[in-house]
Amino acid sequence: MPKGVAVIPARCTGCGTCALTCSVVNCGEFGPARGHISVARREFAGTFEISFSSTCKSCGTCALACPSGALQVVELVEAAGERGRA
Ligand code: SF4
Ligand code: SF4
Repeated sequence: MPKGVAVIPARCTGCGTCALTCSVVNCGEFGPARGHISVARREFAGTFEISFSSTCKSCGTCALACPSGALQVVELVEAAGERGRA
């Protein structure tokens, strides 16, 4: 069954581990800006917004590295021949 990454923004601490991990594993470089995931702080709300680029491979490595459970690997359900999005 295909996998995807579920996001629970309320658990995000903004540590950046996900982006660093993705950059190393998928791009061979150590730098959050090179990863396929980005974490932006909403200044006034004090929360974090997590987004994936179109180049994300849905490999789930970022979720395995997330220390707070804000990212979680999930199985995608296929219904009526349509595949869910990661
Ligand atoms: S799922 Fe994989 S490719 Fe996508 S952001 Fe996470 S580590 Fe990077
Ligand atoms: S999603 Fe997880 S690893 Fe990424 S910044 Fe938030 S707490 Fe850190």
